[in-house]
Formats: sequence, structure tokens, C-alpha cells
Amino acid sequence: MIKAVRFLFISILFFSISSFSQAQNPKRDILNKTFKSTKECYFSFPIKSKEQLNQLSKIISIDRVTASTAYAYANRNDFNKFLNTNIDFQLLDHPNANFKAVMFDSKLKQSYAWDKYLSYNDYVDMMYQFATDYPDICQVFSLGQSVDGRELLIAKISDNISLSEAEPQFLYTGQMHGDEVATSIILLRLIDYLLTNYGANDQINRLIDEVEIWINPLANPDGTYTNDNSTVSGATRFNANAIDINRNFPDPKDGDHPDGKSWQAETQIFMTLAETQHFVMSANTHSGSEVVNYPWDTWTKLHADDNWWQMVSHEYADLAQLNSPSGYMSGFDDGITNGAEWYIINGGRQDYMNYFHHCREFTIEQSTEKMVPENELPNYWDYNRQAMLNYMEQVTYGFRGRITDSDTGDPIQAKLEIESHDFDNSFIFSNLEGYYYRPIKAGTYTLNFSAEGYESKSISNQSIADFDSKIINVGLKKINTGVDSNILSELRIVNPVQNHQLQISSPIDIIRVNIYSILGQLIYTNKTKNKELQIDIQNFKSGIYILNLEFSDGERVEKRFIMH
Ligand SMILES: [Zn+2]
Repeated sequence: MIKAVRFLFISILFFSISSFSQAQNPKRDILNKTFKSTKECYFSFPIKSKEQLNQLSKIISIDRVTASTAYAYANRNDFNKFLNTNIDFQLLDHPNANFKAVMFDSKLKQSYAWDKYLSYNDYVDMMYQFATDYPDICQVFSLGQSVDGRELLIAKISDNISLSEAEPQFLYTGQMHGDEVATSIILLRLIDYLLTNYGANDQINRLIDEVEIWINPLANPDGTYTNDNSTVSGATRFNANAIDINRNFPDPKDGDHPDGKSWQAETQIFMTLAETQHFVMSANTHSGSEVVNYPWDTWTKLHADDNWWQMVSHEYADLAQLNSPSGYMSGFDDGITNGAEWYIINGGRQDYMNYFHHCREFTIEQSTEKMVPENELPNYWDYNRQAMLNYMEQVTYGFRGRITDSDTGDPIQAKLEIESHDFDNSFIFSNLEGYYYRPIKAGTYTLNFSAEGYESKSISNQSIADFDSKIINVGLKKINTGVDSNILSELRIVNPVQNHQLQISSPIDIIRVNIYSILGQLIYTNKTKNKELQIDIQNFKSGIYILNLEFSDGERVEKRFIMH
């Protein structure tokens, strides 16, 4: 009797194990096999409909699509979700498979000819060397560290480099996908080209004299140097947490976390950079295709400045075609595409910059091959050089000017809305010094200026041509509220570039000083009751800081400064 029961029990157990393994193991086998030695896989699947693709774009990182096939990356978790959709797929070799990067040997001391890849240390050295060699027009600093503690470096290039001048700010960022390895070399070479040709080339003189250029060649160092710092072989798209940074930004349609993941260190660094600076135009460079991708990516509605976007995108693609063998950057609509028309992505930096920071950012896909053979690197530089320069130059065109208090002449951070034209946050704001820059397609417009506490002003019938600028300075009249706000105009903060003491003087008592890092971490705090303050910042690491002052009348002021 006992034996019979036991036999029955064992056979039930056996039966349940075998049915479990039939249902579950093939999927688990695929996952275990695929992610045995990597944190991301590359695969393709047939496209059934745009609707299906839009849904999948929220789960996996779609890289590119053709008429019938989508190519995508996924980490283990997200690939598991994809497997649950039961869509047929084909695992592909990762773009880094079989790619053996030829690295520059800096020990040989031969001059670098831009035809080899750089180790992480050589990359860092080269960035800081730019500032050492060209101290009058270049500063280099770290924006912060990646998940694995590598530096996100940025070069700032302009005349009178230590001053914040009345110039529009422009940003280039590259290699946010770590395995698109040509893009950082192209941007490094752009920095070098700008610095070495200043004084010798009219266009470059104009750019450096009239624009504040910011270039971050390597946005995802952890993905780039996945295996070790000495090689880009084995580079991955994702960051060290196997997350696609370019799907991790707040999205106009899908909110703060469109990918369902927390903001990565790299994402937060670019968010803080956008918040503390005032970029008028920018671009994010990629590989995987050859096309200029302009807003929006998240929805199919066109941008308010769609005609301007098409003009500057065609200018880029046309120049790239002119400087390359036939066929380069000539697909899609003659080398350009509306982002969502190609395929929808959520959480990309392009839409984040356009929607939340009123910037004008597009995405440039510079090479079909992600892991470009090193001897072809100079070719992609040649194809893109003039196009990148001319895109930067667009930041000097359009309506521009200064918005001030009509009584005191003090700068105002005001809003400029183009009547019957702006929507979806395409309006812009003037910067801290009151200067505004509004790139726009040729036409005749009505400009509406407004600021809290001021009477609005409308200026109608303003015509502008393409590739031209028009200065319109505006004085706004204060609505009398009785509140004394002389603090801002009389507050003096000495730029810490010159020494390691932050000197602050104010017309009324300062009662609290807080200094935050670029990531919002409190670095320094002090309760006081003084009009004059001197803060020792000698031990601060290089980077951007936010100074927050509280005054005895309850008012607060926030200023940023940079440590080197
Ligand atoms: Zn990319």
C-alpha cells in the first residue's frame, strides 16, 4: 500500500517536471545561450505593421528598419519580454563580432593620423591636450562619471573662452551608442580642425568668434570600452547597466521614464547639462545608417519648424553627398527623414532637447557600418566635415537680440512665441543675460515677447531670409508690484576660473549658501549673515556647479559656475 502511494506520487512529479520543461526550457535555453557572454543581443524580425513596431519600440531598442525587416538590440530582461510576443526572429551576429579594432599606439610617439582607434586613456589625454595647446579658445572639463566611473568629457570652444559672451550655444554629442565607434573619432577630429584652423579659415573664425561651441565626442564610454580600456573591440550599444541611453530620456508623449528604467548616470549628466546651459542648436551623432533624422521621433505630428528642419537637413545631406562617392547619404528623401516617419522611438535625446529645452536638435547617422574599419575613418570625416560646420553656422541665423527691462536695462529671461506658428513647445526663451536666438525659415512673422511681471510686447511684420539674421532688441515694461528685486542686478560673483576662491558680494545679507554638483548632490552648505562671502573651492573636482543663495528678505538666487 505504501509502495503504491509512493509510486503514484513519483509518477505525478515526473509528469509535471516533463511538462514544465517542454513549455519553459526552449525559451530559457535561448536566453541562457544568447546572454552567456554578453549583456546585449542583436536580432531582426519581419515587420507586420507600423502599429506593431511602435509597441515593440517600447520593449526593445530598435536600431533601424527597412521596408520589411526591423533590426534591434535587447538586454536579457527585454529580450525575454520580446520572446513572449512569439514573433519570429533571427539572432544576428552583434556588430562587434569578428571586429578587431586596430588601436593607436601612443608609445610610438608618431603623430596621430586619425586612422586608428584610441584607448580610453589616449582619448582622455587628447581631450585635455586640446585645452593645454589652445588655452585661449578651448576649455575641457568633465561633466561627471559614467556608471562604471569613466569621465564624460566636453570641450568648450570659443574666443574669450573664460567669459560668458553674447553668443548662441551649440552642442555636438557622439557615440551615445557605444558600438558606433566612428562617431567619437569624427568629433575629436572636428575639435582638432576647429582649433588648428582658427585664424586661417574664415568660416572657422566666424564660428569660434560668434558661437560658443560645446563638443562631447564620447557619450557612452562604458559601452565603448566594454571589455577593457585598451580597445574598442567588443564595444556595446548599451551602457554598463545594459540600458540604451538614447531611450532613457524624458519623452514629450511618454513621460519621465518611457523605457520603464531609472535615469542612468549618463542620462542625468546630459539632462543637467541641458538645464544649466542654454543650447540653441545641437546634434547627436550615430552609425547604423546614412541619413539626417529630424524631429519628432516620438509622434508623427510635424514640428512647427518643419520647413526649417527640412532645409537644414537637406543642407547637411547635400554637403555630405558633395564630399563623398555617389550613394553616400542619398537614401530616404535624398538623405533626410522625419524621425517618426522612419520609425518611432521614445526617450531619445533629440525630442528631449527639442521639447523640454526649446533647443533644435537632430540626429545624424554617419555610417551604415557601426564598427568602421580604421583605415576608413578619414573618409567619414571628409564626407561629414563641411556639413557639420555649416549646420553649426545655422545657429547664427534667424531672429536674435536682447530682452531687457525698459527702465533699468537689466536683462530679462523672457519667452518669444512666433504668432500662429509655434506649438508643441517650439517657442524659445532668452538666456540669463537676456539674449535670445530664434532660427527660423524665411518668411514674415509676428514676434510676441512676454515675461512674468512685465507687460507683453508684440512686434509684427518682421521679414527674414534664409541664411540671414535680424537683430530685434526689446525693452519690456515692468508691471509695478512693489517688490524690490535689485538683488540680481547688484549681486556680484567673481568667476572662479581665475582663483580658487568664490567671492560673493550682495546688497543685502546672505543667510544661506548651498553649492550643488551637476547631479544635484549637495557639496557645500553654510548658514551665515553677511554681505561679503569668500568660499574656498580649491578641493572641488572639475565640473559644473550650481550656487544657491538665500537672502535675509527670503529671496533666492541660483547661479552656475565651472571648476577646472
Ligand atoms: Zn545609435
